Amino acid sequence: MLAVNGLGHRYGTGKNAHVALEEVSFTVDSGEIVCVVGPSGCGKSTLLRAVSGLLRPTKGASTLWDKEITAVPEELAVVFQDYSRSLLPWLRVAGNVEFPLRNQDLNRVDRKERAAEALAWVGLDGAGEKYPWQLSGGMQQRVAIARALAYRPTLMVMDEPFASVDAQTREDLEDLLRRVRTEHGMTVLLVTHDIDESVYLSDRVVVLSSAPTTVLTTIKVDLPVERNQIATRESERFVHLRGEVARLLRRSSD
Ligand code: ADP
Ligand code: MG
Repeated sequence: MLAVNGLGHRYGTGKNAHVALEEVSFTVDSGEIVCVVGPSGCGKSTLLRAVSGLLRPTKGASTLWDKEITAVPEELAVVFQDYSRSLLPWLRVAGNVEFPLRNQDLNRVDRKERAAEALAWVGLDGAGEKYPWQLSGGMQQRVAIARALAYRPTLMVMDEPFASVDAQTREDLEDLLRRVRTEHGMTVLLVTHDIDESVYLSDRVVVLSSAPTTVLTTIKVDLPVERNQIATRESERFVHLRGEVARLLRRSSD
């Protein structure tokens, strides 16, 4: 479904040039959750911006259903790392979640229902009438996640989406994402620097090196589809897989 082909990006020119991505290639199949894991500063956000059509890479390209991505595709929703810039401050929480639905073939009542459902999913049932600035950072990020889920994108692209929420909420959101993926047939590409999260969430982990950034390897996560925050994380297979990713990352930064 998604193919990232030899993607590279250089910020600036001449002496001030900084190569954020050397050359990155991988694919995401329809219905998969793929996590990209890599050290801080290795270019994960740059990669996601390029894949989402928000940044034109200086090398290579990405395709969605064989079509080159040059602008944000309609079937795609993005959740950014920086929640403080992602919500519209003049709209209430419910208004923010409904906003992208205006372009979809839904009437007002359906839009309201979709938004209310997504807010309940992220544990914010009562917060629809509030303004974003009345919520904590973690809650604002959950609004951004609800907005993306309400949109029901074919492909969901997420940049460290759970970094700003507390540990318990983070686990709930990880399980929610896996459940919504199954129930609504979504495909997810998510970047994180958290090794355990990458293994717990995904069907495959793409491990990036530190700069000059390339794909070190792709690891298939052969854990059962049904996962449990406690049992899965203490299973032998999970511990083995997280060790494999950790060793690769350690070696790449030595
Ligand atoms: P990550 O998300 O993995 O932490 P980023 O993609 O944010 O990494 O950044 C990769 C590298 O590119 C970093 O060294 C960062 O300082 C640099 N960088 C990111 N954005 C810009 C920009 N707009 N201009 C110049 N350099 C940038
Ligand atoms: Mg980042």
